[in-house]
Amino acid sequence: MSVVSAKLRQVKLSPSVAARAIVANLREQGRRIIDLTVGEPDFPTPDHIRQAAREAIDRGDTKYPLSQGTLALRRAVQQRLQADVGQSYPVDQIIVSTGAKQVLYNGLAASLEAGDEVIVPTPYWVSYPDMVELAGGTPVFAGTSSSEAYKLIAEVLERAISPKTKWLMLNSPSNPSGALYSAEELREMAGVLRAHPHVWVMTDDIYARLSFGGQNAPHLLQVAPDLADRTLVVNGVSKAYAMTGWRIGYGAGPKDLIKAMAVVQSQSTSGASTIGQVAALAALTGPQDCVDRFTAVFKERRDLAVAILSDVPGLGIVVPDGAFYVFPDCSALIGKKTPSGEVISSDVDLVQHILSQAGVALIDGSSYGIASTFRVSFAASNDDVRQGCEAIRDVCLALA
Ligand code: PMP
Repeated sequence: MSVVSAKLRQVKLSPSVAARAIVANLREQGRRIIDLTVGEPDFPTPDHIRQAAREAIDRGDTKYPLSQGTLALRRAVQQRLQADVGQSYPVDQIIVSTGAKQVLYNGLAASLEAGDEVIVPTPYWVSYPDMVELAGGTPVFAGTSSSEAYKLIAEVLERAISPKTKWLMLNSPSNPSGALYSAEELREMAGVLRAHPHVWVMTDDIYARLSFGGQNAPHLLQVAPDLADRTLVVNGVSKAYAMTGWRIGYGAGPKDLIKAMAVVQSQSTSGASTIGQVAALAALTGPQDCVDRFTAVFKERRDLAVAILSDVPGLGIVVPDGAFYVFPDCSALIGKKTPSGEVISSDVDLVQHILSQAGVALIDGSSYGIASTFRVSFAASNDDVRQGCEAIRDVCLALA
């Protein structure tokens, strides 16, 4: 009998963690691998943020934080959310956690009853379904397609809603597709949600500031502020400030929900690292030009990747409007043969073939709940993005 619970035995290892192990293994064998699987900015955390953390340590700012987050950081988050979302949340309606991921998990853990359903649009960030299951709920997948730029349309959302629906997960710009919802699309979604007052929304805005249109991604609450009393807004500093390892995220929402999430947190982690919170405060209140600089670099790489991959027969490219991923549709290549006669029967085969032939590591779309696609991360150097995409092109062109 395994010591591991039945619930945990269901939960998969994240494909990016698995991909990292494969890449490490191949590099150990001496192979040169271009790693386009990565889910974090390749830039160092900006100097002024690191300096703030050093000063916190030297000052002795190293004791337990307030479990719900330091007041200083929650006040900074309050300002940020006023600008990003158009809501003025009192500090008791704001929580700081160990990354946006823990905000999402706390939100689910604090609210789901057995059998509650959570609508997860596909393709999804891999953690959503597993987190929902860990928290005792049931993920319900709502499909999107490349012809809809991988965005959930109102009719599909309407069909996915049942009396048991508790949450809709909304991630714009999206990991893995880079899809960004326009204000108009969010307005349509809000129309459906208004007709179903029992459905709550988690907006995962972790990539919102990395959007290529010159301003933040539009937010559901900007177009539908009336939904604020059933929305959990989730964000953090990981992606916009190149701070993935600092593990600071934040959430804001209705009082009861945040209070319950704070209980989950106080009985599990006692809150996020004090030093990390000082660093996040410096990120949110310090100079913001680093975010613009990162976004400009990602946009340049997006253009580079899209220019190369759009020319490949058999790949369908939807131009991503944010985040740092492009998500080609490879359905036209399924069934083709490699020069040595092997049939590519799935996106998993294609990704493996590209890795073995060209040494370029990617993640198959099946891992994100949508077959015949794959994810290319452009959180890698310009040279790696160029060489990696050219190698993908050459491997695809050699299929017959
Ligand atoms: N949401 C999405 C869509 C993500 O891609 C990630 C990170 N891969 C997270 C949340 C988690 O962010 P954090 O590092 O702040 O926990």
